[in-house]
Amino acid sequence: MSTTLNYNSLPEADEAQLRTTALRVREHIIRMATGGGCFIGASLSCADLIVYLYGRHLRVAPSRLDDPNRDYLFLSKGHDVPALYGTLAELGYIDRDRLAAHLSPNDAIYWHPNRRIPGVEFHSGSLGHLLSVAIGVALDIKMRGTDNRVYVIMGDGELNEGSIWEGLLVANAYGLDNLVGIVDRNEFQANIRTEELIPLEPLASKFEAFGWSTERINGHSFQEMEGAFGSLPFESGRPSMIIADTVRGRGCPSIEWRADRWFMRLGEEDADLLMRELHGGEGGTLAAEPLVVR
Ligand SMILES: [Mg+2]
Repeated sequence: MSTTLNYNSLPEADEAQLRTTALRVREHIIRMATGGGCFIGASLSCADLIVYLYGRHLRVAPSRLDDPNRDYLFLSKGHDVPALYGTLAELGYIDRDRLAAHLSPNDAIYWHPNRRIPGVEFHSGSLGHLLSVAIGVALDIKMRGTDNRVYVIMGDGELNEGSIWEGLLVANAYGLDNLVGIVDRNEFQANIRTEELIPLEPLASKFEAFGWSTERINGHSFQEMEGAFGSLPFESGRPSMIIADTVRGRGCPSIEWRADRWFMRLGEEDADLLMRELHGGEGGTLAAEPLVVR
């Protein structure tokens, strides 16, 4: 069964800083969708999670990437890499100017997570693989006896990969309580709702049945993230899973919850519209709290 959340108190100044960083990251995502395009909906849904993890929770910094005792975050749902690259740019891992090269096949930053970019742990984009990679790293940490943790973000549509469920079994078998799975539960897989294709619910009870101690949070609430991530591991001797309910396209109302807005190649006018929405014009939602997740 789920444990009771113990909500920590996120200092107001820290939360404001996280919100500002997340806004900057969303601006980067819109720019990366302009001209060449990107998977904008999924990038916007997981932006707050990635900003929170790199900005506040993970024991990692640009100057600590060679430290084997730091934390590790694997982005298994590689299609939302604009959110990761935008975060790494805002937090000093890479130069902001580097983001403009995401359409250049000759640059490592091209299209998908690439471990040659500082702060990226492993390549992804082919789905269903990085939970297993994360399990290997978590097992190594266990054998070395240090207390650092391994985090892996997966998409809900990605859960259709059988390799994910094999990995869930293995993590439980080794009692990897230093491993944290995070599902960006935006309810869409490509251009269709997950429940219309291969239903996932009741998702929490499935993870529990596979031996993972599971919590469900609003993936856009830094307070709820603080409560859940601050309570890790949820149970000693068991891996932890956080299902983060999110909104695809979060921050730009005209593309929120839209099945046909998973990949977008924006023209300048469309980009301008989304930027205005992001900053509170055109029905923008980011200033309105709390978000009601359906
Ligand atoms: Mg999804």
